[in-house]
Amino acid sequence: MAVRIGMGFDLHELVSGRALWLGCVEVPSEKGSLGHSDGDALAHAVADAILGAASAGDIGDHFPDTDPRWKDVSGAEILRRTAEIVRARGGRILSVDSTVFLERPRLGDRKREMAERMAEALGGAAVNVKAKTAEGLGPVGEGRAVAAQAVAMVGEPGEEV
Ligand SMILES: [Zn+2]
Repeated sequence: MAVRIGMGFDLHELVSGRALWLGCVEVPSEKGSLGHSDGDALAHAVADAILGAASAGDIGDHFPDTDPRWKDVSGAEILRRTAEIVRARGGRILSVDSTVFLERPRLGDRKREMAERMAEALGGAAVNVKAKTAEGLGPVGEGRAVAAQAVAMVGEPGEEV
């Protein structure tokens, strides 16, 4: 098996009147993510990291925001389909590490739940979620955006490393 690594990043604007979904978990919040989908920045960063590791493009290729099929699509659905893309290539998602950047609310007690929900949607993988604030700086620090980054390792048939 060849082991490959991929990275992902995502950012969504936070606005009133939208739900805040992160890592397939709805987080009670005054503001939620703006987006064509449910705006789950963490799930999107994780999906992009996995697609990157599988050399399979990015979520914009597979779930274009110009396609009404993906209107309000959940992060869990994107992760399920991303895992299918990897499996169809004979690959296996080995591990995911991620960080979500959000000023408020604090996510401390929800990180484990996010990791579990994403692992479930992926059909099994070691998933970790970390959370940080932006110390009041920039769009994230001012509470105007949520961002996330992730790395993923995918095993594919190929030369052993
Ligand atoms: Zn996104």
